[in-house]
Amino acid sequence: MEFEKERKHMVEYQLRARGIKDDRVLKAMESVQRHLFIDEDIWDRAYDDCALPIGEGQTISQPYMVAVMTELLELKGEETVLEIGTGSGYQGALLSLLASDIFSVERIKVLALRAAVTFKKLNIKNIHLVVGDGTLALSKEAVYDGIIVTAAAPRIPDTYINQLKVNGRLVIPVGNRFSQVLYQVKKTPSGFITNTSTPCVFVPLIGKYGWEKSET
Ligand code: SAM
Repeated sequence: MEFEKERKHMVEYQLRARGIKDDRVLKAMESVQRHLFIDEDIWDRAYDDCALPIGEGQTISQPYMVAVMTELLELKGEETVLEIGTGSGYQGALLSLLASDIFSVERIKVLALRAAVTFKKLNIKNIHLVVGDGTLALSKEAVYDGIIVTAAAPRIPDTYINQLKVNGRLVIPVGNRFSQVLYQVKKTPSGFITNTSTPCVFVPLIGKYGWEKSET
């Protein structure tokens, strides 16, 4: 398989060495071919320790950040997960190996269409793609075991809190336009527990309960 050595190196030196412990996450990141989610012109940088451009002013996140966020979802395999910000589809492809059903929302249609082609090529069948504003609820009734927001929010939208199952986890970067902190919010039977993780920099979450386009 192409770039196998580079993926092993990425897992050892960018992820395990920095404290990523969840074996399922490490294994998934060793198997998903990150280069297939970016333009062939930049394949030589596919396993570098950084975010990369995917067109439309958007990015595929740094592998370490993807690993931290995925680990914070605490997935065991049976969950239904909502991802906001499909982007290239890389994060979704990882989630497809770690949970049962993935709903992934992207506001930029061409990115969603491109991700759909990649999922088809890789024979991924448990990702349901939706084009639209992911700060709005997908449906009035649906609730999820995990919600991962891969764009930066000015605050935690109630939409996500309301869509969490009891014992569910929300992972979301919150802050200003230029720097954020990663939050994990757990819904317990007796209320919410909020933990902060690492500082980070994400592209903005644009939508009704995110940033306005004119603010970005
Ligand atoms: N998870 C992606 C991946 O694996 O490539 C990286 C996501 S990129 C850092 C953030 C994405 O969020 C962009 O594609 C952007 O268009 C999308 N986005 C921003 N605001 C959104 C919204 N309100 N609803 C859905 N997608 C949104």
